[in-house]
Amino acid sequence: MTIELEKRCPLCRSEKIQFFFEDKKRTYLQCSHCRLVFVPRRHWLSAAEEKATYDLHQNDPEDLGYRRFLSRLSQPLLKKLGSAQTGLDFGCGPGPALSLLLEECGHRVDLYDPFYYDHPEVLHKKYDFICATEVVEHLGDPDRVFGVLFEMLKYGGWLAIMTKLVIDLQAFRQWHYIRDLTHICFYSRHTFEYLARRFSATLEYPANDVILLHKK
Ligand SMILES: [Zn+2]
Repeated sequence: MTIELEKRCPLCRSEKIQFFFEDKKRTYLQCSHCRLVFVPRRHWLSAAEEKATYDLHQNDPEDLGYRRFLSRLSQPLLKKLGSAQTGLDFGCGPGPALSLLLEECGHRVDLYDPFYYDHPEVLHKKYDFICATEVVEHLGDPDRVFGVLFEMLKYGGWLAIMTKLVIDLQAFRQWHYIRDLTHICFYSRHTFEYLARRFSATLEYPANDVILLHKK
């Protein structure tokens, strides 16, 4: 067993890193401070390999099953929003669908995705809400990205995240979520409690894999 200890946690930069798990393809480390489980850089796909995987996930915005999947995030978020708010779908992927659901309810949504909508100018704007569905598990530098997201969020704004959460090692070993080689960060409720503290936000879980952070 190779235990390669990366020096710092990619989210909280703590040096308290431990071995967590190893499968045939990758090693997983865990930060003792924020409890993020992460894959060392040597196992990451290249950007081209990563994009090739995303190209396979062409989600049709008209597909009812996909709309239902996204509604687990959009429904609880919509309940929080006033009328005609401005938001960002961060990491929207090739075929924006969530933005359509939100625009149908009278909101305005900008799109950003490093592979498909690479318009970094939107990252300097301020938003009432930001959505990141199935995004944060792909981040190589979650420390920087969460900093950017909270900077873009207005006071009183909402960050709505969808990602599957780590329960424990037992469940992790058999988890389909870790078989996707584009997934390199795995969060738990502890990790989101850390983020809420760091960015002075409150935290709600409207579903098992949906997290709402409210910037106070
Ligand atoms: Zn950490």
